Amino acid sequence: MFSFLLPNDLKYLEGKILRSLLKVLTFSFLGLILFIPSALADNTANRIAGKNRYDTAVQASKKGWSTASTAVIVGGGAYADAISAAPFAYQKNAPLLLTNANNLSSETKSRLKELKTKTVYIIGGTSTVSYTVENQIKSLGITVKRIVGKNRYDTAAKVAKSMPSTSKAIVANGFLYAEPIAIIPYAAKNGYPILFTNNSTLNSYTADALKSKGIKQTYVIGGNGSINSTLYKRLPSPIRIGGVNRYDISVNIAKKLTLNTSNTYVSNGYSYADSIAGAALAAKQNKAIILTNGENLSKEPRAFIGNKNIKNFSVVGGTSSVTSKVMTQLKNPAVGKTIFIDPGHGDQDPGAIGNGLQEKDVNLDIAKRLNSKLNSAGAIPVMSRSNDTFYSLEERVKKGANANVDLFISIHANSYTSSSQGTETYYDKTYQSANSQRLAELVQPRVVSAFGTRDRGVKTAGFYVIKYSKMPSVLIETAFITNSSDASKLKSVTLKDKAAKGINDAVSAYYR
Ligand SMILES: [Zn+2]
Repeated sequence: MFSFLLPNDLKYLEGKILRSLLKVLTFSFLGLILFIPSALADNTANRIAGKNRYDTAVQASKKGWSTASTAVIVGGGAYADAISAAPFAYQKNAPLLLTNANNLSSETKSRLKELKTKTVYIIGGTSTVSYTVENQIKSLGITVKRIVGKNRYDTAAKVAKSMPSTSKAIVANGFLYAEPIAIIPYAAKNGYPILFTNNSTLNSYTADALKSKGIKQTYVIGGNGSINSTLYKRLPSPIRIGGVNRYDISVNIAKKLTLNTSNTYVSNGYSYADSIAGAALAAKQNKAIILTNGENLSKEPRAFIGNKNIKNFSVVGGTSSVTSKVMTQLKNPAVGKTIFIDPGHGDQDPGAIGNGLQEKDVNLDIAKRLNSKLNSAGAIPVMSRSNDTFYSLEERVKKGANANVDLFISIHANSYTSSSQGTETYYDKTYQSANSQRLAELVQPRVVSAFGTRDRGVKTAGFYVIKYSKMPSVLIETAFITNSSDASKLKSVTLKDKAAKGINDAVSAYYR
């Protein structure tokens, strides 16, 4: 490329320059490739799963340990034992593995060999981990120690006594497996044992463990329905962490104890084996674990994820436990973001009228489609109206502010002369000007492409709802009701659905 500038005797030098130039270019190009995806990326969600619960625990252990001289083993159906075992396992730097009661599960057996384990602690009685299993472990050349009590309370108390001294403990209802899951990483890291009660009485084993360990403060997991107020008051300086459901409790634990959410573990609130395996790994990695419905990301974790702006997830459990829909929701950069949808006009105010259409109906139709798409994509949509009701512009702005929404999207259709046509998106410069403009520039081409309308561009105007909303806001004029070609597009269910999808995609792109 420089040869015409260089005399022949400089060819050698030229080659050298070219080579270094190519090197620089190659490296800057590689840099560009490496840089762009991290700046414009979806969230990450990786799955940790095995063929069954034993294998899932094995897979989780692989993320935390390459070798482990000590391992802890519990019965695959013994959730209370597994929960009390988790902080103990952490203290021993031991992976927590599961077994079938009557035969050492093959996955667990191979894993013990891989880990070069020398000592196994079995937590629980012979009904959950039989003598046969104990002997199978011993035959691998491993020393076996068993910690067991007369019942789940006693076993947890004995595990507590095997842990280093501490002044704090966790108290949970021993029959509600989901409630203490999220506190496992915190309990583990701090060396706090997890002790059990029923709803109303302090059993002697737990009472004794609290006393003999000199526990001065307790974290009590669950509401009055889990541990009632009489029992609560009998516990040492209790701090209650409850919630409206298991998902909410998990989120409240993460919030209250400000657990590390830089990579958050997620599991199904009804699959305790997966959750406990996940919690043990989350403990090892000093991260939070939250619970969800496996079919659809639950409301409470959604809001938590949105507020904390969590971008990276490890999902524990197979597709039957946490579906690929939930994985997709977690990967959406707009997951948990609260999006206000404002279908313009309503009731006595029809908005533009023409070609057999009333604007209020068209706006509501597109808004409802957007609502359902945002919802299934993992965001939290809030509508100013979901039926043919009139609200003033002030009320709409106030609703958005009260719901503390992240984005405000007002949906309208245009009217003018019959020859005016096309799509335009407005933003206002009063608040969040740059972000509003960015959102408008993401929305506009997607709505244009959905409807196949003329692109009238992104514009500024002081429309009330976008002028007074303090969050990033846009107002979309989808098409002209007064133009017959545009109106026919606004009548098409397919195109309205495409437009809603376009806006939903723009919201994801905004957070990407
Ligand atoms: Zn309008």
